[in-house]
Amino acid sequence: MSIQDKYDFIIIGAGCAGLSLAYRLIDKKFKVCILESSSDIYKKNKLWSFWDIYKTPFNHLIQKKWNYLLIKNCSDTVKINCNNYKYQSINSHDFNNYILKKIKKNKNINIEYSSKVEKISQRNKIVYVKTDKKELKCNHVFDSRPENKKIYMTQQFFGAYIRSDNEIFDDNYPILMEFSNTKNNFHFMYFLPFSKKTALIESTYFSSNKESKNLDENYINKYMENNYKNEGFVIEKKEFGMIPMDVNINGESYNYITKIGSNSGVTRASTGYTFINIQKQCDGLIKKILKNDKNIRTRKNFHSLLLRKMDSVYLNIVKDDPAYMKSALIKLFKTKHHNAQIRFLSDIPSILDIIKIIFYLPKKKFLLYAIGIKEKND
Ligand SMILES: Cc1cc2nc3c(=O)[nH]c(=O)nc-3n(C[C@H](O)[C@H](O)[C@H](O)COP(=O)(O)OP(=O)(O)OC[C@H]3O[C@@H](n4cnc5c(N)ncnc54)[C@H](O)[C@@H]3O)c2cc1C
Repeated sequence: MSIQDKYDFIIIGAGCAGLSLAYRLIDKKFKVCILESSSDIYKKNKLWSFWDIYKTPFNHLIQKKWNYLLIKNCSDTVKINCNNYKYQSINSHDFNNYILKKIKKNKNINIEYSSKVEKISQRNKIVYVKTDKKELKCNHVFDSRPENKKIYMTQQFFGAYIRSDNEIFDDNYPILMEFSNTKNNFHFMYFLPFSKKTALIESTYFSSNKESKNLDENYINKYMENNYKNEGFVIEKKEFGMIPMDVNINGESYNYITKIGSNSGVTRASTGYTFINIQKQCDGLIKKILKNDKNIRTRKNFHSLLLRKMDSVYLNIVKDDPAYMKSALIKLFKTKHHNAQIRFLSDIPSILDIIKIIFYLPKKKFLLYAIGIKEKND
């Protein structure tokens, strides 16, 4: 096998993190190669939603913004005011199109599809990246591959992009969580209405087990029948996936490899939100790269110790007592400290925000879990 090319940087993965970093390297003095195992990155469709708390270079791709979000269970509906931090979505196909078009026009970045990276090693300060086809050389690797290790909990979902015959959706009110009336699992519907006729409806679990029930078209059809009886509709596209929820995923690696993206621990363990954190991570990295900083490693833990501790308590309760956690969340959002709650969910809480969150959560159970004492379920 011959060693063919020498790059400044090799980016492994043309997903959200790989392309976000590549975008920031366009037209810079570095020679960059992106290695992507898939032959077609458009096969997977993702809709990245987030609160407007951080300016990204991709804001013009935002498909829709909302001023409110609802949280529901069978007896309550809470309206979260997002006027200060609008909830908004970007489609991964628009994102890919925008970045790939720019990459194509410039000469410093090369993408190789169907190139599965198998091994990374370093000899005499040169990094060797071996794919299933060839070996490449570079100075530094940015790696967004998921690791094959046991994850504490995952967000598992199946979503359908609906087009209805009639104007049936209220597109001012997306639903962040509509809890199903089940005691023993943390299952909810996520609903994003883009217009009166189009919406994404997603059946979602936070679970430590592999779930399959209710993650299919039948469940979506049932949801439509229950909520929009006898209305005609078609499913235009499907979206499914798994997001890691684990406070122990981190960015630790060798000094010639920088982990990026979900695999480096930027995904918020309690929520799965990742997109904005990837943008923050890439903004930080590009600053270091352009300053010729020799230490371009990301910090080991993206999130503070306090947020990781709070998320760990939350995930433990979701696992042990999902019914309790579902009602605790409804109670929390009813307190109407929505700006503080959004900042907390978006990883930018002030100390006062954290105090407000802790103050309005049921204290006994959370405190017992925080000190490692698990209560028996009723
Ligand atoms: C369907 C879906 C919806 C989501 N919605 C949201 C949302 O609303 N808001 C939000 O903030 N986050 C969301 N997320 C979470 C997160 O934003 C995404 O998962 C995001 O795509 C993570 O980007 P990434 O680059 O870390 O990983 P990926 O996008 O998975 O990219 C990794 C890339 O590496 C490639 N690869 C893997 N192994 C190899 C190998 N050996 N060699 C070469 N290439 C390899 C893969 O093919 C892939 O293209 C969602 C996730 C999913 C799955």
